[in-house]
Amino acid sequence: MIDPFGRKISYLRVSVTDRCDFRCVYCMAEDMAFLPKAEVLSLEELDRVCSAFVRHGVKKLRLTGGEPLVRRDIMRLIRKLGRHLDSGALDELTLTTNGSRLAQYAAELREIGVKRVNVSIDTLDPQKFTAITRRGQLEKVLDGVFAAKAAGLAVKINAVALKGINDDEFDHMLAWCGEHGFDLTIIEVMPMGEIGAQRVDQYLPVSLVRADLAKRWTLEDTDYRTGGPARYMTVRETGRRLGLITPLTHNFCESCNRVRLTCTGTLYMCLGQNDAADLRAPLRASEGDALLDAAIVEAIARKPKGHDFMIDRRHQAPAVARHMSVTGG
Ligand code: SAM
Repeated sequence: MIDPFGRKISYLRVSVTDRCDFRCVYCMAEDMAFLPKAEVLSLEELDRVCSAFVRHGVKKLRLTGGEPLVRRDIMRLIRKLGRHLDSGALDELTLTTNGSRLAQYAAELREIGVKRVNVSIDTLDPQKFTAITRRGQLEKVLDGVFAAKAAGLAVKINAVALKGINDDEFDHMLAWCGEHGFDLTIIEVMPMGEIGAQRVDQYLPVSLVRADLAKRWTLEDTDYRTGGPARYMTVRETGRRLGLITPLTHNFCESCNRVRLTCTGTLYMCLGQNDAADLRAPLRASEGDALLDAAIVEAIARKPKGHDFMIDRRHQAPAVARHMSVTGG
């Protein structure tokens, strides 16, 4: 699949549920209303759509959410998708998780063929962790992280930079990741969805985080790319990678190779734009995949050049109304 700007679309991110056991302050409102179950694609339907994308040349599939591991029977879907790894059609099957249930599933994930996972941890301070997630337990998440490591999964830690909340912690997190053999990616907060708080109060430019870390660590630029928004460097002292995702201070659209599917079957061709294609109707309209295939091709032909996120005092409203938990980050 080649989009109108010549970009090869080889990466599908799938939000398998909008539900989550955490309510991170920058991601969701405290009183989120979740989707009625009838609107959500069944595991069989998710498998059908993912498999259609694999047929169209998708090589990398990431399951996300909401929290993917809270979806009932999710391992049934992951196991089924594993057949595309076995056949060689898919290069990578992976997931982004908050880690709360990773201890339970890590070994099975590895056995299916998952090689790495991204785990979101914004702080290593247990009290702060519970405050940011509004209910999470750091200890459980760390159990999950170390179970993943023990199972042979590579772990990347994702941390969102939050002004006045975790800006004093990146030094420690970088050292901790180095000690345990994890890569670390630091993410700028993006203006997605109403959260009952002012984004401008949370926004910390990652360029400032980098400048501060560079005072104590040797950050060597690399040309390692995943086609995604992160720019990677190697931390000489630890040998691990540090990724920076800067949607606000640096636009990452020119190399975008991805599209995002929600758990209701809506395909967003850009994280920061509202245009979307409904794949649920063609999916449910017939047992064959001809309509679904046509809808996918039509959607890719509409992938926009990029987005235009902005957070400042004059732009207080979210750039897009949906929360990150809808499109899965
Ligand atoms: N529950 C899983 C997790 O915690 O990783 C997967 C879904 S979560 C929406 C995916 C990632 O998006 C997490 O790393 C989270 O911190 C990040 N995220 C959520 N809202 C965000 C926002 N407004 N700006 C930047 N990152 C955000």
